[in-house]
Amino acid sequence: MAVEQIKPETLNPFEIVQKQLDEVAQVIGLEPHIHEMLRWPKLEIQVTFPVRMDDGSIRIFRGFRVQYNDARGPAKGGIRYHPQETLDTVRALAAWMTWKTAVMDLPLGGGKGGVVCDPKHLSQGELERISRAYIRAIAPFIGPERDVPAPDVYTNPQIMAWMMDEYSTIVGYNAPGVITGKPLPLGGSKGREDATARGGIYATREAAKVLGLDLNGATAAIQGYGNAGQHAHRLGTELLGLKVVAVSDSQGGVYNPKGLDFAALSAWKREHGTVVGFPGAEALTNEELLELPVTVLFPAALENQITAENAPRIRARIVAELANGPTTPEADHILHDKGIYVIPDFLCNAGGVTVSYFEMVQNAYGYYWSEAEVHQRLDEKMTAAFHAVHETARRYRVHNRLGAYIVAIERVVEAMRLRGWV
Ligand code: GLU
Repeated sequence: MAVEQIKPETLNPFEIVQKQLDEVAQVIGLEPHIHEMLRWPKLEIQVTFPVRMDDGSIRIFRGFRVQYNDARGPAKGGIRYHPQETLDTVRALAAWMTWKTAVMDLPLGGGKGGVVCDPKHLSQGELERISRAYIRAIAPFIGPERDVPAPDVYTNPQIMAWMMDEYSTIVGYNAPGVITGKPLPLGGSKGREDATARGGIYATREAAKVLGLDLNGATAAIQGYGNAGQHAHRLGTELLGLKVVAVSDSQGGVYNPKGLDFAALSAWKREHGTVVGFPGAEALTNEELLELPVTVLFPAALENQITAENAPRIRARIVAELANGPTTPEADHILHDKGIYVIPDFLCNAGGVTVSYFEMVQNAYGYYWSEAEVHQRLDEKMTAAFHAVHETARRYRVHNRLGAYIVAIERVVEAMRLRGWV
């Protein structure tokens, strides 16, 4: 007997990217050959490389680098170290980088890299050897004019320093512009460390303005307590007056309706490697955190956290996506129908790549800006991009992610046309 099956929603990030693009293509009537070109990465590299471990054994690692589209400029995007990394995840993230640099109107394309590894179980020496070996493997394909990596999940400025040094050794001169998110003494930019969160906080401020919401004293929850999550805690409190009542990391979460103190909690995380067990707070799960009745919810961890399954139970007024890909396409429609204001990932978390772009400019000039200058230029860029997206979504009567896609795709397509590609 034939039983009607309801197809479960896909959680493959690259299928999600293609689905999102198909939706935009329909709304703006994208010509089929342009649509097809945008559905696939321009170049993808898979590498396998050996690394000597501390115990003397040799382990074989696998890495990826995808250059999704470089019509607007060199490919740009981070490198993730994650045990579950796959080519499809990297492809998806590379596509989102393409839309991210375009929505911010930066003269850059989109790319992404990843190495399958678990940094929590690697020594500093092993991490350094993996980072250098990965760069040796992809060196022929990257460079300041071609593809410029940066930090992402479980990579950091020290790793960028080793990679920049390895690349400089290969080409035979100092090449700071090959990578961004470097430490300050090696050509990093002031303001890069907290740029992703800061950009998201500026965007949240603008969202509150258009919604007529007062954020001073309003509640917030943060899923993820890495670079973006921790700085969002600090800056959300400092710049917007938000009261952060819940945060979580991969091991679990903590909740205190009176608010969680940033200095105390980040010190706890540094010492114990997790927010779990923080004194004076109740324990809660990552799933419970997402469903709290807060004014602002910051997903700042990984993909696919808000799905068709839990979206009906989300009670935030604003969802500010600091993570890449936290919301599935089905969930997007549910949130939109519920009147929840989503600041989509490739707008909300674009502060990081925007200051990376500032870093590239400073590296090219060999002249470095003050922190105040970086903050001001970032604010201008975020505010302009936010309103471009907000107005486009209103004009087309679509949810904000689709609005952001329309702004980005139109810019990428214009560059492809001018180059004579399509
Ligand atoms: N990894 C960050 C992102 O997803 C920053 C990328 C960059 O700075 O190039 O946007």
